[in-house]
Amino acid sequence: MREYKTRLLTGDSLGIQEAAALLRAGELVGIPTETVYGLAANALDGGAVGRIFTAKGRPQDNPLIVHIADIEGLPPLAAEIPELAKKLAKAYWPGPLTMIFRKSALIPDEVSAGLSTVAVRMPYHPLARAVIRAAGVPLAAPSANLSGSPSPTTAAHVMADMAGRIPAVLDGGECAVGVESTVVDITGPTPCLLRPGGVTPAMLAAVAGGVSVNPAVVNRLPDGAVAASPGMKYKHYAPKAHVVLVRGTPAAYAAFVNSHRTEPVTAMCFDGEEGALRVPYITYGRREDSAEQAHRVFDALRRLDEIGAGTVYCACPPEEGVGLAVYNRLLRAAAFEVIDVDG
Ligand code: AMP
Ligand code: MG
Repeated sequence: MREYKTRLLTGDSLGIQEAAALLRAGELVGIPTETVYGLAANALDGGAVGRIFTAKGRPQDNPLIVHIADIEGLPPLAAEIPELAKKLAKAYWPGPLTMIFRKSALIPDEVSAGLSTVAVRMPYHPLARAVIRAAGVPLAAPSANLSGSPSPTTAAHVMADMAGRIPAVLDGGECAVGVESTVVDITGPTPCLLRPGGVTPAMLAAVAGGVSVNPAVVNRLPDGAVAASPGMKYKHYAPKAHVVLVRGTPAAYAAFVNSHRTEPVTAMCFDGEEGALRVPYITYGRREDSAEQAHRVFDALRRLDEIGAGTVYCACPPEEGVGLAVYNRLLRAAAFEVIDVDG
């Protein structure tokens, strides 16, 4: 792999033009979106897309999401656009929703990782859309982290993982949503949720009349099972710390954590509940504020590594609404290790 002196580009028209020029030349650029930072390449250039897998250390069979700036960008990428997709696009694009289509001949195999389908999203982040427009091509972009580590929600997170591996990162500040997009299969009569995100099951059902949730969203995939979304089968979002999810009331959580206070443990708890804890802690939002938890969860996981945390007892988030996305990421960060501490 070539070594770069990675530049931090400012989120203005000059930075946008520089990012676009690199992308047109087949290079990779870290770009902000409202979900997490993406590691972008020209989606129509198989060679450029191949470099994403090398830079991330990403398994070759995990396909990428293609990002478009305008609805006119969709028809060339998809072999067919179902009515359901049109309805969902009208309601939630631009936004944190990815839909899976049968792919057109334009999509290189590197993007779809050998599948006959392609995942497409129209982000609402103004810098993301400006870069796509300036590049003049759709952009394939997975999260801009090293494969397996927590997704980046600031330019500094991208630098921490990608410095030396890519030529540039475009700085767009903190990502508003903070967790990756909702991924849905729209080939059936109702949407099937493959990955929860900022567009919630209730929001999908409100437009589509119903929604199903793939069991792998909240369960470990059985050994040997074929994942509807290949990303489901990999260890994900994991800090170096050993994370355990602890489910229970604030009092039961505090009692459990404090019973381990003579051990080198760290709590990852809700804001306002730290006063009851007798161990070092970091917080990730109030218990009832799932959007705030989504916004902060990946930064919290990265900070655990910065402070050298060993075992982390993480307060389990409520699973409703955007909380399902937070729970899904933390479950994977914890490699599905959950302890129930109520009664
Ligand atoms: P990332 O960009 O790192 O958030 O990863 C993209 C996610 O979308 C992964 O979980 C992929 O498995 C999933 N994905 C991408 N393309 C497809 C597809 N054609 N079918 C199903 N899932 C997909
Ligand atoms: Mg990712």
